[in-house]
Amino acid sequence: MNSYFHYQQDQLYVEQVALADIAAKYGTPCYVYSRAALTDAYRQFADALKSREHLICFAVKSNSNLAILNLFARLGAGFDIVSGGELQRVLAAGGEANKVVFSGVGKTEAEMRLALDAGILCFNVESAAELDRLNEVAGRMGKVAAISFRVNPDVDAKTHPYISTGLKNNKFGVAYTEALALYRKAAGMAHLRVTGMDCHIGSQLTEVSPFIAAAEKVLALVDQLAGEGIKLEHLDLGGGLGIRYDDETPPSIAAYAQALLGALQGRAEKLIVEPGRVLVGNAGVLLTRVEYLKPGEEKHFAIVDAAMNDLMRPALYDAYHAIVPLTRPSPQSSDETTSHSTKHDKAVQVAGYPTSGGGGKRENQSLIFEVVGPICETGDFLGHAREMALQQGSLLALMSAGAYGMSMSSNYNTRPRAAEIMVDGDELHLIRERETVQQLFAGEKIIG
Ligand SMILES: *Cc1c(COP(=O)(O)O)cnc(C)c1O
Repeated sequence: MNSYFHYQQDQLYVEQVALADIAAKYGTPCYVYSRAALTDAYRQFADALKSREHLICFAVKSNSNLAILNLFARLGAGFDIVSGGELQRVLAAGGEANKVVFSGVGKTEAEMRLALDAGILCFNVESAAELDRLNEVAGRMGKVAAISFRVNPDVDAKTHPYISTGLKNNKFGVAYTEALALYRKAAGMAHLRVTGMDCHIGSQLTEVSPFIAAAEKVLALVDQLAGEGIKLEHLDLGGGLGIRYDDETPPSIAAYAQALLGALQGRAEKLIVEPGRVLVGNAGVLLTRVEYLKPGEEKHFAIVDAAMNDLMRPALYDAYHAIVPLTRPSPQSSDETTSHSTKHDKAVQVAGYPTSGGGGKRENQSLIFEVVGPICETGDFLGHAREMALQQGSLLALMSAGAYGMSMSSNYNTRPRAAEIMVDGDELHLIRERETVQQLFAGEKIIG
C-alpha cells in the first residue's frame, strides 16, 4: 500500500475515490490506476537524473494502455518497445518516434521497416544475424539505421530465473566476449550508424549492485571502442528496478539513479534507462469479487471473478500480490451481528467452516483461504494461504498489479479482458472498455 491507495473509514480509496464505487460502476474484474502515482514515479526518476542528459524510455510491455503511454509521453518520456505493435501503440498515444528504442531478439523485417519509416532513435541489436538483416532492410529503404548492441554482461541479477536476462546462458543480447568484434563489423556497414551500447539484466531487482556490476562491464567495452575510434553517443542501462510487493526492500528510485550517475561520472554519453515495473507497478490494482466460498478438507477456497488470464504473474512466476478487502471488517462486530437477519443470510454461506470458540458462526471471522479464479487449471491461483474474513460478494483488491498485469492478460477460457480505469483526484476515466465476447470471435470463420 502507498499513499495513493489508502483506507479511509474502513473503505479502500485510490486518491479521492472509494474503490468499491468503481467496482459498482464498472463491474469486476477491473484494473484501476492512479494518475498521481504514475506521475509521481516518473517525476522521481526524472528528478533523480536531471544532473545529466538523459532519456527515460518507459518499457511499454509492462503496461501498454494508450492513456498510460500518453501520460508518460506528455511528461517527456521516450519508450522501449519490443514489437512493431508496441511502436504503433506509442505513435497512436502521441509518443515521439525519435525517443523510441527497439529491443527484442526476434525483430522481423516488417517490424524493422515500420521502425525505420517512423524514424526511431535506436535499434538495440541482439545478434549478428539481426545486424545483417537490419543493414539489408535499411539499405533497400535507402535509410541508415542507428544501432546499439544489447551486450550481455554475464552478471547475476539475483531475481527469478524467468525474469533474469543478463546471464550468458540465456537468449538475450550478444555475448560479452563477442561484442567488440560485432561493433567493429557494424562500424563498417553501409546502412548502419553505431550510436550506443545497451544492457538489460533482468527485472524486479532488489539490489543496486548487479546494475553497477553490469554498467562497469559495459563501460570497459565502451572505453575499448573509443580507443579504436568508435565513439558512442549514448549508454542504455536498461530497466529492471524492483518494487515492493510483499516484504522486499528495493532501493529507492533516487538511490538507484544516484548509483547509476556515480558509475557514469566524468563521461559525456547521454544516459538512457528503460524502466517499466517501477513506474507503473504500484500505481495499479486489480479489483475482483468473491463468487463463492468453498470449504475443502484441508483448504478453504475463495473463488473470485478474476483469474490467471487477467493477472498471470502468480501462475507464471509464483509471484506474490497482497490481497486486501475493499471494506475493512470493523473489529468489534462479531457474534451478535450475525443474528441480524440479512447478515445471517451471509453467515450461512460460510456454514461448514470451523469456528473458533463456542460454535457461533462469526461473520468477521478470519479464515485462511486459497484465492483462486474460475479457470480450469490448478495453476489458476491469485494467492495462497491468505487470512481474511470473506463472504460471497466480498470485494478485494490485488495490490501492485499495474505492471505486467493487463499487458500479460489473455482470453483463455473465452474470458473477455477486464476494463481499465484511471483515477485522477476525484475523477474517473474509463481508459479501456471491458471486452465483449463478440469481439473475441469476430475474426473467426466456420467452414462449410
Ligand atoms: C522488460 C524490459 C525492460 C523493463 O523491465 P522492468 O523490470 O519492467 O523495469 C527494459 N528493457 C528491456 C529490454 C526489457 O525487455
